[in-house]
Amino acid sequence: MGMWASLDAMWEMPAEKRIFGAVLLFSWTVYLWETFLAQRQRRIYKTTTHVPPELGQIMDSETFEKSRLYQLDKSTFSFWSGLYSEIEGTLILLFGGIPYLWRLSGRFCGYAGFGPEYEITQSLVFLLLATLFSALTGLPWSLYNTFVIEEKHGFNQQTLGFFMKDAVKKFIVTQCILLPVSSLLLYIIKIGGDYFFIYAWLFTLVVSLVLVTIYADYIAPLFDKFTPLPEGKLKQEIEVMAKSIDFPLTKVYVVEGSKRSSHSNAYFYGFFKNKRIVLFDTLLEEYSVLNKDILEESGMEPRKDGEGDSEEIKAKVKNKKQGCKNEEVLAVLGHELGHWKLGHTVKNIIISQVLSFCLTVLSRRFEFQADAFAKKLGKAKDLYSALIKLNKDNLGFPVSDWLFSMWHYSHPPLLERLQALENSKQD
Ligand SMILES: [Zn+2]
Repeated sequence: MGMWASLDAMWEMPAEKRIFGAVLLFSWTVYLWETFLAQRQRRIYKTTTHVPPELGQIMDSETFEKSRLYQLDKSTFSFWSGLYSEIEGTLILLFGGIPYLWRLSGRFCGYAGFGPEYEITQSLVFLLLATLFSALTGLPWSLYNTFVIEEKHGFNQQTLGFFMKDAVKKFIVTQCILLPVSSLLLYIIKIGGDYFFIYAWLFTLVVSLVLVTIYADYIAPLFDKFTPLPEGKLKQEIEVMAKSIDFPLTKVYVVEGSKRSSHSNAYFYGFFKNKRIVLFDTLLEEYSVLNKDILEESGMEPRKDGEGDSEEIKAKVKNKKQGCKNEEVLAVLGHELGHWKLGHTVKNIIISQVLSFCLTVLSRRFEFQADAFAKKLGKAKDLYSALIKLNKDNLGFPVSDWLFSMWHYSHPPLLERLQALENSKQD
């Protein structure tokens, strides 16, 4: 009843207030819906305390319990951080935080000797202050997530010094891109006349294409170390596989993901005839710094690190060896290359304009297709075991609420992927 009465009241307000109310109402509706879904998924983590029988073959009860506790902690964290940011956003809107920041920026410009004719300068100061505010309010949450939650579950590899340096670097790099780009954009809007929105749209399109092009070569290396994968069996096999499907591979890199966390991954990037593959060192059993201690015990040679950086990294993962065997790495890459061969990347860019829910549904279809592609390359058996290992290394929880999973998961649940692979694992 109360809600309908307030909707009626909303209708009688002037236009700006109506828009203001609609924004708040929309934001809270989405927030409450997602909180409802998260609570459903949380119930699954709480009540599924034993490995379901159909998973008995692929997951031991120790890993299952570890992943269950990890996911429970993560879900508690996102409940509180989500509540905080929803309330923060609402308060900023209600108490006029945005106009306040605008006036503050004007005052700064006044001190610096810029008159009111320099609206663009005022906009830049406004942007700078707004991003600074959001970085500062986000910092405690990010610190807690890294040094309490990820640390507790054995994923964090960062020192506080590395984290802070990284955060400052990220802020500076963002400003170096954001400020010139937005001043140009504002200038275009100012002189663009009636069709300013077309020029503005074209400009943002060009800027995002440029950013995508330079990101991997010029921006990502500012944050992480990329080294070419050394010559050897793995590199040869990757090249053979790429060639067999006409993938224009030019370089294979290993990124030192282990400096941040022990979560593992692989991806490719680049345009047209110049594609590169990046493997996280944590994905590679033979290469992972995190396995150093285990390798030493077993008398194998650990990987050499020219700059001695690895001393900084204490192998915090004490439990078991992490990462995949070469054949499994190749199977994972077979899946990734499937995304390329089947045109998923381009399709994703084209439909990224559409609602994110449709994207999630489509993205899951793509995952199955890429798995099937790897299967066609004869990698079914290795992909099967790689998926299980990766799920284990990343403490993914194999059971999920169907509604939560449908809304959020861009990758299909592990069990469904394994079943699809299983059907013809023997080929
Ligand atoms: Zn995929």
